Formats: sequence, structure tokens, C-alpha cells
Amino acid sequence: EDTVARIAAGEVVERPASAVKELVENSLDADATRIDVTVEAGGTELIRVADDGLGMSEADLRAAVRQHTTSKIADLEDLEGGVTTLGFRGEALHTIGSVSRLRIRSRPRANGDGGSATETTGTDATGTELVYEGGEVTSVGPVGCPEGTSVEVTDLFYNTPARRKFLKTKATEFAHVNRVVTRYALANPDVAISLTHDGREVFATTGQGDLQAAVLSVYGREVAASMIPVEASGDDLPTGPVESVSGLVSHPETNRSTREYLATYVNGRAITADAIRDGIVGAYGTQLGTDRYPFVVCFLSVPGEAVDVNVHPRKREVRFDDADAVRRQVDSAVESALLDHGL
Ligand code: ADP
Ligand code: MG
Repeated sequence: EDTVARIAAGEVVERPASAVKELVENSLDADATRIDVTVEAGGTELIRVADDGLGMSEADLRAAVRQHTTSKIADLEDLEGGVTTLGFRGEALHTIGSVSRLRIRSRPRANGDGGSATETTGTDATGTELVYEGGEVTSVGPVGCPEGTSVEVTDLFYNTPARRKFLKTKATEFAHVNRVVTRYALANPDVAISLTHDGREVFATTGQGDLQAAVLSVYGREVAASMIPVEASGDDLPTGPVESVSGLVSHPETNRSTREYLATYVNGRAITADAIRDGIVGAYGTQLGTDRYPFVVCFLSVPGEAVDVNVHPRKREVRFDDADAVRRQVDSAVESALLDHGL
């Protein structure tokens, strides 16, 4: 059973960034208004995600680490709309905990304000700390902590040496973590999201701004100042499944030699898709150097039936039935934004 759990864990938790993704999604699902992500050594030694969300009672906490336990009822085809939470399988905490040491501190919000995953009573004077190691709850007890939840993952893959060996350098693992947190920070400008690595704050959004403000916090002034708004829908777009394209794209001279700066979303979900990437890059044409990519934050709205979400559910790679049309539509939206700016 233990071995089975650990093998399954390898699929959910491939590297520190996958754990970060699950924990940040849980914080967003818990209605957090701030999320602080702290990692050490690229996340291989420590990952801590602290939020001010709904929090959990002791009973909630015990249930949370149990396999296939979710407080969220949802439909597997989450990209098809209607589902408002990011998690739904109830396996993330359980599986992360089976390949690491997990310490969760949580305290329910005094005033649950609706849509709550937890029935809060307002009487929890303190919070609860639960320690889960190698797949077992090793201690539970009261602890003084603020409202919300803090999940600490240490020694990831300590009991799965093969998996640990697959980890890249700390710098590479951190680059993956950074990309994950960046994607959520850009998609949720109304949540204050910070990222700290080895004691250094990498970025912190204010949670009070719009997309432009989030871009400023994450990528800095130079990139933010070069951003060009994209906004196209309906008749603005060539024929195809995409109903609207919106976001920000950087001036062709503000670019980097990596794809990591393409943050793309379909129906609010962070995804990657060749058709979208090719459309964006195509719109810049020769203005981008070889192997250079712009900074892009691009939101597409697409009817669920036009998206194939099963290509790689964990990595959120999606494909479209009519990929060519999607590429043309994205290309056209970005190209007209650039043209509007004389580019
Ligand atoms: P899922 O997100 O698919 O439900 P998880 O294993 O990620 O499964 O989490 C299990 C449960 O633990 C969630 O359904 C939720 O009730 C609770 N939970 C996890 N993280 C948090 C958090 N940061 N704040 C409040 N509740 C949480
Ligand atoms: Mg989850």
C-alpha cells in the first residue's frame, strides 16, 4: 500500500514545482486574499505556502490528508466551465505527504463568509498543527497560529531516492517554482502573492491592482512599461473556436531567450498549448530574434467542447480540435494589438 502510494505520488509530485502548484491552488480554492510562498534550495529542502484563507478545524485537517478526500465537489472536465475550484481529486495533500514530511498549521476563519469549504464555528481560539510523515499522521495538537493555513513540505522525496535523483539543479528547480507561482500571481491580481527563495523575496504582488500592476510586481518596471494591451473578441477575430483573447504582450524589443515568459490561460486556467504559443510568436514575425520570446499574459475564452484537456492533465497542456484556427485567431489578436502601436 505504501509503495503504491509512493508510485502514485510520483505522478502527482514530479518535482518541487508540482507540490507548489497544488498548494497554491488549495490556497486559492480556500478563498485566500494573500498567499506567501517560501522555498529553500529550489524547494528541495523546504516549501512553505501560507495563506489567510478559510482554514481548517482539527477534523478538517485529519480529513485533508486522507486519500481521495476532498471538500470540493466538482466535475472532471474542469475546463468546461461551471467548476469554480482548482482542486477536486482530493489526492494532493495525501500524495505530497507520502513522499515528504508535511506540517500543516491551520485555523478556521472566525467568520466564514459563504462558499466555505469548512463549517466554522468561530470558537476555535487556536489552530491545529498536524504532522504527516511518509504517509502517516505522526502528531496532531493545538497550536497558536493566525487564521488561514500554512503547509510546510520538507525533505521532498526523502523516501524515494530514485525520484530525488531526477531532480535537476536547485536553480532549475527554482525556475520551475518561479514559473508556477508567476502564473498564478498574474492570473489572480486581486490576491497578494509573494515568492521568497533562500531568504530573498523574488516578487510580491499587492493584491489590489489589475493585470498591469501584477506584471509590474512580477517582471519589473521595464517589462511592465513595454506592455501592449490585447483585446479582441467576436467579429474582431477570424473564424474559429476562440471567443475572446485578452491580456498584455511586450514590445518586441523587450524579450528573453526563453519561453517561460509566456503565461497563457484558457477559461481562467493556466495551460500551455502549441497553437497559442505559435499564434503569439507568429504575430511578432521577424521582429523577434531567433529563439526569442516576448513577455505575454494571454487569456482565451473558448467553449469547453473545443478543448482537449487530456493531453497531459498534470502539466495542463491542452490541444484544440481546430488548432489551426486557434493559432490564426491568436495571431490576429496579437498582431492587431502590435499594429495599433505602430509595430
Ligand atoms: P483537493 O484540493 O483536490 O480537494 P487536496 O488533497 O489538495 O485535495 O486537499 C484536500 C482538502 O484539504 C481540500 O478539499 C480542502 O478541504 C482542504 N485544504 C487543503 N489545503 C487547504 C487550504 N490551504 N485551506 C483550506 N483548506 C485546505
Ligand atoms: Mg488540491
